[in-house]
Amino acid sequence: MPEEIVGRILRLPGYAAYRSEFNDETSELTLWVRQVAADPFYTCGECGIGTREIYGFRERRVRDLPWGAWKVWLVVEVHRIRCRRCGLKTERLDFLEGKHPYTRRFAGRVASDCDDAPVRRVAAKWGLSPQTVHRIDKRALRVWAQRRRRRPLRWMGVDEIFWRKGKCLTVVSDLELGEPIWAGPDRKRETLDRFFVDYLPPRRRRAVRAVCVDMWEPFLQALRKHLPRAAIVFDKFHVMKHVNAAVDETRREEFFRQKGRLRDVMRGKRWLLLTRWRNLTRRKKGVLTEALSRNRKLFKAYYLREQIDRLWSYTYKGAAQRFFESWARSLRWQRLPAFKKLAQTLIRHFDGILAYCHHKVPFGVVEAINGNLRAIIRRGRGYRDYEYLVLKAQKATAQVRMERAA
Ligand SMILES: [Zn+2]
Repeated sequence: MPEEIVGRILRLPGYAAYRSEFNDETSELTLWVRQVAADPFYTCGECGIGTREIYGFRERRVRDLPWGAWKVWLVVEVHRIRCRRCGLKTERLDFLEGKHPYTRRFAGRVASDCDDAPVRRVAAKWGLSPQTVHRIDKRALRVWAQRRRRRPLRWMGVDEIFWRKGKCLTVVSDLELGEPIWAGPDRKRETLDRFFVDYLPPRRRRAVRAVCVDMWEPFLQALRKHLPRAAIVFDKFHVMKHVNAAVDETRREEFFRQKGRLRDVMRGKRWLLLTRWRNLTRRKKGVLTEALSRNRKLFKAYYLREQIDRLWSYTYKGAAQRFFESWARSLRWQRLPAFKKLAQTLIRHFDGILAYCHHKVPFGVVEAINGNLRAIIRRGRGYRDYEYLVLKAQKATAQVRMERAA
């Protein structure tokens, strides 16, 4: 092959191929590559200082990007050098990815494929093991994350997602950025303790103004200890889950209390009862009204659920408090045990519900972040590497943001 053309395709400044070998059976092309400068110069792998003193070399075989239909391997001369600072060392070559058996540009291509396709598929495409692809992608993501400006964490979200047979994952997010920042196994107090040790040293904790979290005692204990000055705001979605559970329990009780036709009226209405009024179509509203008109308790339960939503519309704690008191008063004489229990739960956590008056944390963001994570877990099937999971979600979120901005 004409050397000039090979050199131009290879595009490794200062390097040239001096030997080539085609394997037609495997469609593999191997190129032997070495430095061709008149006065060669070598960089210390340890400190980056240059030297001209070498003590022999070793050949290393690394995978490079394909040329047409050919899979390309480079056999590179890597020298042992004497650095005046570090002594005997191996030289550093900028186009190699550390000691890995592929070039930096090869790793870059594999990592960029991982932005759009699951690891398994990228591995199949390049003929690599999924572990290798995972490692390449994670390293690239780490470099990407390190280059980003790290902003102080002001609004923190703590939530958990379920995955793989009842196992639980605690996710901490930056609600301002709309990104997860950390994930760890379980939902224990120790889980959050770990987060503070790993990610948020004491000097960076002062910036945190509010934490949006579930009414989950172990988390609250950790938060009170590590962030004594931050406001705790209970996640509205989580509070509403409790409210919905009360509606559902009332439905179940009424279902078993009633007989015959009155029971049939309630059959199959669970979904309707748990959907907000404004999210129902006109026809569904008709069906629900019909069912509710047959059962006073159910009507009351539905109505109370619709009402409680107003709790998050206040900016003055006093007004919110008054609203809640009147809501709780209307429970009297209703014989709705599920709602009695609910009211007690709400009263116990009232500070964290009222905190929303002053700290309007974006509730929807937590749900959106969780949705993204779940999608990534589904695609990747069995992510056990929490750091990778978080990095993946961050990159995906950043990409969506960039596409929107463009
Ligand atoms: Zn050195």
